[in-house]
Amino acid sequence: MAKRVVIVGSGIIGAATAYRLGRAGADVVIVDGGAPGATAASFGWLNASFHHGEDHYRLRVEGLAAYDRLLAELEVPVRMTGCLSTEFEGERMRAEAANLSALGYPVEEVDRVTFGKLEPAVAAPDAALRFPGEGVAEPAPLNRALLNAAALYGARIVSGVRVDGLIEVAGRIIGVETGVGTIAADEVLVCAGTGTEALIAAAGHRVPMVPRPAYVIETRPVAPVLSHVLATPDGELRQRPDGVLVMPASVSHQGDKAESLGLSPEEAAEATIARIRALLPGVTLDWASVRLAYRPMPEDGLPAVGRLSEGLSVAVMHSGMTLAAGIGECLAREVIDGPSNMTEQLLAAFRPQRFV
Ligand SMILES: Cc1cc2nc3c(=O)[nH]c(=O)nc-3n(C[C@H](O)[C@H](O)[C@H](O)COP(=O)(O)OP(=O)(O)OC[C@H]3O[C@@H](n4cnc5c(N)ncnc54)[C@H](O)[C@@H]3O)c2cc1C
Repeated sequence: MAKRVVIVGSGIIGAATAYRLGRAGADVVIVDGGAPGATAASFGWLNASFHHGEDHYRLRVEGLAAYDRLLAELEVPVRMTGCLSTEFEGERMRAEAANLSALGYPVEEVDRVTFGKLEPAVAAPDAALRFPGEGVAEPAPLNRALLNAAALYGARIVSGVRVDGLIEVAGRIIGVETGVGTIAADEVLVCAGTGTEALIAAAGHRVPMVPRPAYVIETRPVAPVLSHVLATPDGELRQRPDGVLVMPASVSHQGDKAESLGLSPEEAAEATIARIRALLPGVTLDWASVRLAYRPMPEDGLPAVGRLSEGLSVAVMHSGMTLAAGIGECLAREVIDGPSNMTEQLLAAFRPQRFV
């Protein structure tokens, strides 16, 4: 009989894993009912130029490769636009390029003239790095597409229902408890973003997480002015196909360590729009929306992925857009067949047991 897997959380990690598990023949039920998740607010940059060390780099590169596999199977809103980065200057930029090249990462140095040809509407810097293998996902549409694809493989979704606890019998998790009844499982997979720490703590497990609030600002749509992801000292910027420009309010948003915001939503939006105007002189811009979200961030900044105890696994991380396609593949394999050499190689540094 097919293994019954209950996934708590229908954000990008739960959805990508549900798709892979459904394709592999598992009987999947996704339960979601917590606070609005991080995925809908995400910037959606897919990259491995930002990383916390070699293991993290390899996991991110595998994440990008997994998107290639996903794109070959499904029509999903993912575009490999490339990224232009001016985050570092001079010696530091050259060192960054050399480090990434040494790891085998595609990186090109770009001068002012070439930059101007690639992005004529952007105030051209003296030099930039170009990462041609990077791209963007439209987070909420990709999330929906993966849930729909999982449903085609038989996955079922229970929404509006919060999971309050895990049911344990003789040391094994056999289902989840909700305010409206229980749901039985052979395996429970907790992909509950910022709700993960509390849920697994009730079963005696520990993945400590830190608060990482963030604002994301969207402009009113404008004519096409930007084709790459732009990573600058003044923030990361991209343009969606509908013309809307998107920028997180915090600069270097992936490494942002602030635990509080400091600015009101309108102040943050005004400050961000001023930075976008400086990057795109000559484009008339105004902000249309500002959204507050919380990044799911384990205390050491790294993903926590894998088996916690009999019948219970977890997957929680920041950079979940970059990692989702790869994590979905690995987790589905581990839930069905247990860890393999391949999943161990990728995930050994990210097991939740490091917090015990
Ligand atoms: C502003 C911002 C910018 C970002 N930019 C990038 C980026 O450029 N690139 C990148 O790779 N990553 C980025 N990230 C990170 C990325 O978006 C997240 O890592 C990813 O979305 C996490 O997905 P998730 O499925 O783990 O969690 P979520 O999307 O938060 O989903 C978790 C789900 O679980 C549900 N839930 C929680 N508790 C319970 C419960 N008890 N019972 C039932 N359901 C529950 C919630 O309702 C939610 O739907 C960004 C995040 C933010 C906030």
